[in-house]
Formats: sequence, structure tokens, C-alpha cells
Amino acid sequence: MIIFFDFDDTLFDREKFISALTKELGISQEEFLKDYNRHFKDRGRPYSLKKHLEFLGGSRRERGLDHFFRDLSAFVYPESYQLLQESRRQADKLILLSYGDEEMQSKKIRGSGLTEYFDKIIVTSDKAESLKEWYSEKERIIFINDKSEENERIKNLFPGLEIIKI
Ligand SMILES: [Mg+2]
Repeated sequence: MIIFFDFDDTLFDREKFISALTKELGISQEEFLKDYNRHFKDRGRPYSLKKHLEFLGGSRRERGLDHFFRDLSAFVYPESYQLLQESRRQADKLILLSYGDEEMQSKKIRGSGLTEYFDKIIVTSDKAESLKEWYSEKERIIFINDKSEENERIKNLFPGLEIIKI
């Protein structure tokens, strides 16, 4: 059995993280959202802090941010640890499958301290495409994910896959 886990809003409190990040950046949540929509969402690309800092103007506070990213365990949902420990006992493989900008997501995942639970960490721009490589009729595969529309889409593509909405 292989269990795939989504990261944001499944194991990691993205909202709380964004709120702390905006504080670090010295901008309000409204400004963050405006920037996010304008530079990323409306352009169909995942959020990248590096690009965001460029839009905000040059080398702004990157040093301080390195420190911020070093320990992000405060944003891991407390229940995540037990869920991961139990899953580790039951599954042959645990795989983290996260959508996003490679550099940004990897930083977050590393900072969360959750890497040790996983056999593999995949940061992708298309979860379905990544799942395709692992999908097999013979193996039990579970995907734990918070997003309903995404779950629907994946369920349609891979009918044998079990999806748990969290
Ligand atoms: Mg998610």
C-alpha cells in the first residue's frame, strides 16, 4: 500500500503560514493577496517567494527570511504527526505530493520538519500527471488531500485510487 499526502492545508496550516510570512515581509494580508492574484494566480503560475521579492523590490529582507524558513514546525497541524506515524506503520510507502513552485515548496517542506516521514517527496505542477506514474490496478493507493475539485478530477482519472478528503 502506498499513501500519498498533499501538503498545504492537509498537513500544514497554509493560512497561518501566509499570515506569518506577510509579517516577515512587512506587508498586510490584503497586499499579499493582491500581489498573489496579480503576479501568480491570474497568470496561472504557482507562488514563488523569490519572484514575489523581486516584485516587491530587490534584495528585500532575504536574510531574515532564511531564518524564518529554518523552522516552520509551528505551522504543522498537531494532528499531522499522529496521522503520519500511523500511516507509516500501515503503508509500504509514504509519498508527499505537493503542488507548487519547486524552490518555494521545498523550502516549506524542509522547514516543516516532516521530510523524515516520507520515502519520497514530489513537488509538481500537475498532481494527476505525477500520480499516473504510480497508479497500478494491483496496488492499493490512497491519496489524502483537502481540495474537493482536485479530488473529483483525480477520482475520474484513476477510479481505483482511494481518496480521503481531510
Ligand atoms: Mg492542499
